[in-house]
Amino acid sequence: MDLENKTVSAMQAEIELLMDYGVPKEHRDAAGQLVGKYAADPIALNLFHEFYSYLPEAMEDAVRILRLLARRQGVYLLCASTLATDYLYAASVENAVFLGPLTQGIWDDEVLDYFGFASRDDFIAGHRDPALFPVYVPTALDPELCLFCAVASGECHIFGCPAEVCPWCGGQLTRCNCRFSQLDQWQLDREGQVDTLLTRLIEKGRIPYEPCQRPTYPTLDEEGE
Ligand SMILES: [Zn+2]
Ligand SMILES: [Zn+2]
Repeated sequence: MDLENKTVSAMQAEIELLMDYGVPKEHRDAAGQLVGKYAADPIALNLFHEFYSYLPEAMEDAVRILRLLARRQGVYLLCASTLATDYLYAASVENAVFLGPLTQGIWDDEVLDYFGFASRDDFIAGHRDPALFPVYVPTALDPELCLFCAVASGECHIFGCPAEVCPWCGGQLTRCNCRFSQLDQWQLDREGQVDTLLTRLIEKGRIPYEPCQRPTYPTLDEEGE
């Protein structure tokens, strides 16, 4: 998982470039300001990148607002309201997937199941008015969410998240030596080994995300305000 800041700013630069081509001139400033608001948020940047790379109607458009409809285990169901209409995306810190116009609901059964919607009609009935849903807040501003993989309190981190605490030694799971001692070898180079490690980890009992696992500096900033 590559969550470095320089990746995020490179992504923002790419989005800016895409917007120069895809956004009507009179809306370009506002569209850029919205992306700027989410400049440190990989989930929103993945969505913007996907939107401005493949404008859904193949014509100029701009995202005006992002709303959060549901989230589970680091995957966010977001509504992007644009100049033209409202679109659905499933986004995580890794990527964003276009799901179609909001009015058509979610067609994919796996996605419906994942977020706990009984059917496409059920989803549509509950989501006619996107304004009823909260504006999406960058995950870094919500201590209930892991700063790195964006899972919520009580959920297990996405495997490979640098914030996951090791249940064997209490250290940082991606840094401590337990992964080697558990598998009795010094390099994890085959996919099967990673699966074995995950199985061992689940047997041992993974430590879910809690706000106290956040690096301390955001808390200090908040207290200073
Ligand atoms: Zn995490
Ligand atoms: Zn350990």
